[in-house]
Amino acid sequence: MSSIAQHLQQVQTRIQSACQAAGRDPASVRLLAVSKTFDASAVRQAHAAGQSAFGENYIQEGVDKILALQDLALEWHCIGPIQSNKTRLVAEHFDWVHSIDRIKTAERLSAQRPAGLPDLQVCIQVNLDGGSNKSGVAPDQILALANAVAALPRLRLRGIMSIPEPGDEAATRWVHAQAHALWCSLQQAGLVLDTLSMGMTADLELAVAQGSTMVRVGTAIFGQR
Ligand SMILES: *Cc1c(COP(=O)(O)O)cnc(C)c1O
Repeated sequence: MSSIAQHLQQVQTRIQSACQAAGRDPASVRLLAVSKTFDASAVRQAHAAGQSAFGENYIQEGVDKILALQDLALEWHCIGPIQSNKTRLVAEHFDWVHSIDRIKTAERLSAQRPAGLPDLQVCIQVNLDGGSNKSGVAPDQILALANAVAALPRLRLRGIMSIPEPGDEAATRWVHAQAHALWCSLQQAGLVLDTLSMGMTADLELAVAQGSTMVRVGTAIFGQR
């Protein structure tokens, strides 16, 4: 068994234990394997071990891998910041985007999504604990942005993504709880959402305890970057 396959199994076990501790169905948490900085052969090994959803932060690097791996049935998630001059690449190559934090980005993705492809699945990134220079929309702006994104053609709003600042357990748990509450409040406002994207290598158990439906794990699968 490759070490990537072993690591994937360890991460699945962590997710299962976290679900058990939280009284949740393990099938309610998806694993996104974050392959940024690792090459296409690492993604191939992970796919051979049963993993099909991959996350990339850097657009051009991600597109290069997507093109190199077209022979595999993979689902590609863009989880990094998107500059305006990169929206076309994202719209043409990725299946999901977690990092929408401005209507302008969403409008460009909507306009540039090729008609022959399925709708682009999108999440709005929320900034719950950073200053104004951190990516993500402020919590009091998210309902307006979510409603605007949900109205755009060729995009399908699925939920929100949260990335806590590195901190102690209590602080991380607080951010995850805020993200979950915000996600619930958007649903109460009438939006149909099924994705709460939170939890990484260091905090996936805490995220699952607070209701994460998709954990984004890089280091624990592919190794240190
Ligand atoms: C790099 C990255 C991850 C994966 O982080 P690890 O700590 O390596 O698991 C998850 N989400 C985002 C947005 C990232 O940039």
